[in-house]
Amino acid sequence: MSETKTTEMKATKRQFKAEIKKLLDILVHSLYTNKEIFLRELISNASDAMDKIRFESNKGTDYIDKDLPLEINIWANKDKNILYVQDHGIGMTRDELIKNLGTIAKSGTEDFLKAVTENKENASNIIGRFGIGFYSVFMVAKKVIVKTKSYLKDEPAMEWESDGMGGFTVKPLNEEMKRGTIVEIHLKDDAKEFTEKYRLESIVKKHSSFISFPIKIEKERVNTIPALWREPKSSIKKEQYVEFYKFLTYDTEEPLDVIHTSVDAPIQFSALLFIPKRNLDWFGITREDYGLDLYVRRVLIQHKNKDLLPEYLGFVKGVVDSEDLPLNISRETLQEDIIFTKISNNVTSQVLSHLTKMAEKEPGKYKQFWEAHGKIFRLGYSDYANQDKFMKLLRFNSSSCKDEKELISLDDYVEKMHKKQKEIYYILGSSRAAIEMDPHMEIFKRKGIEVLYLYDPLEEFALSSLMKYKDYEFKSVDQVDVKKLNKLDDVEKNENEMEPLSKDDEKHFSSLLQRIKNILGERVTDVRESKRLLDSPAVLVNPDNSISSTMQKIMHITGQTKSIPKKIMEINKNHKLIRNLLKVYKANDKDEYITNVAEQLYESALLMEGYLTDPHKLVNRINKLLEQSSEWYTAVKKL
Ligand code: ADP
Repeated sequence: MSETKTTEMKATKRQFKAEIKKLLDILVHSLYTNKEIFLRELISNASDAMDKIRFESNKGTDYIDKDLPLEINIWANKDKNILYVQDHGIGMTRDELIKNLGTIAKSGTEDFLKAVTENKENASNIIGRFGIGFYSVFMVAKKVIVKTKSYLKDEPAMEWESDGMGGFTVKPLNEEMKRGTIVEIHLKDDAKEFTEKYRLESIVKKHSSFISFPIKIEKERVNTIPALWREPKSSIKKEQYVEFYKFLTYDTEEPLDVIHTSVDAPIQFSALLFIPKRNLDWFGITREDYGLDLYVRRVLIQHKNKDLLPEYLGFVKGVVDSEDLPLNISRETLQEDIIFTKISNNVTSQVLSHLTKMAEKEPGKYKQFWEAHGKIFRLGYSDYANQDKFMKLLRFNSSSCKDEKELISLDDYVEKMHKKQKEIYYILGSSRAAIEMDPHMEIFKRKGIEVLYLYDPLEEFALSSLMKYKDYEFKSVDQVDVKKLNKLDDVEKNENEMEPLSKDDEKHFSSLLQRIKNILGERVTDVRESKRLLDSPAVLVNPDNSISSTMQKIMHITGQTKSIPKKIMEINKNHKLIRNLLKVYKANDKDEYITNVAEQLYESALLMEGYLTDPHKLVNRINKLLEQSSEWYTAVKKL
């Protein structure tokens, strides 16, 4: 025996990783609610271990103790206050034991700790979602011994022991053992109830009834529920769906909707899918935690398969079971399997059809769906095969909505569109209030043209890559051709309409524009008269064919460019301020007041667009203008 082998055989004492210590501390000292779920976690681990061995067996792998029954056995020793949970699953080697139960700091731990601080009472309910369920056993145990033997040939049986405080020991087991794992739980004095058969039975029935392997307590089978998705729809009660959903997702609420289908041709499969009421991706940290469970003839092939549905439908939870896939299919080649691809296309299209129906028949429910999952769903713009269905399912807030909660579809938009309108307009902003004050909106209000309000740059990405809906191109309000809009009649009367400028003044106005252009110099591409403004004196717009404002902003935020994009400054000659400026200009075209106003208008516009990085100059200038105006004010008022 080599030297390393000899040291391996000795008992080694190890420390838990810091995160795991913290986790154990919280489990033992702060979580008193719902301790019984420790059993669910151990059963779920046992079931996973047996899924794994069944998978190896289907692949034709060679392993030990092939004839052991795939079942979970639970029994207790009342005198010693010990509970045993045993499986004949895949077992663990020495290295796996050390890695899995103690040394690897799992990312789930941090996430779980975060969840605990926000939501204490539910923490024990959700621990299983974070991949750290095993440690919940220390809520009821003063000592735990895990005895395990790997399915691999020539691996010795091992024993892991811990009191859940600082560390654990691992040593070879000095008794005979068949393949699998036995968890020996030395219960705390206040946890004696978990040696009672009736208590164990009720816990298993409550939390583990959908486990597909037999669960036996004191040799008696407890779980008898068959694979629900294979049952005829008519025979299933709503509560059964809800129960299965909760089992699957650890959600404490009922699902928003259930999709249960059975397809026979051209490929046979059943699917039982759920749409959760809320986004289960708490804090956005379990993003990877999506996918459907894939079964072949009731045998679990893969937990959370990520290819059955595209990512934007990742909020859907559930199982898919097919007769037509081979049992020994390898997870690695699934994606290339034609039958699998057909199943996945069919499942995707079923989900979209279901949502379409929901949108038509139950708009209230659909709105709930949108509020919970719209953000992820919107990413579906890249699913070209389903683009038509997808676009019909999109929802937006818009200028015609009464508040920021109301939503419309693209069909709603098109229906109300102006007869001569050829484009669908949108604007991106941080809130409804901000958008409504944006000068770009003025012409749309005046012409009574609806504008979609986007609050997330990803929405604009989606629209610009979709390009159009039906024949109508998506267009950002700052890239619109104002001439086209001005051909439409006004619906709003301009209350402060001004006398048109005289011919002479028009000329002066042109040279005033030139003067402003000289002041702003390289910072703008042009200064010109605005045909879109009503209430604002000036606005910055994009030169034709330049990249969209959102793109510019994203490049700015991500540091790809530090420069401020050059835009066209448009001046509203029918604004009181500009009319007064014209008077100043006519009296003295070099007046410094003009410079101050031009600078201020430019920087105010930058500020509105989010580009002004240093406010000092702007604030100083405003102070100066205020000072001047205070003098005029006191003079006029004769103070
Ligand atoms: P999770 O099961 O979510 O990964 P746990 O903390 O419950 O997290 O378990 C950690 C790991 O320990 C498991 O991923 C598995 O590899 C291993 N494990 C736990 N229980 C068993 C068992 N009964 N048989 C084989 N391996 C097990």
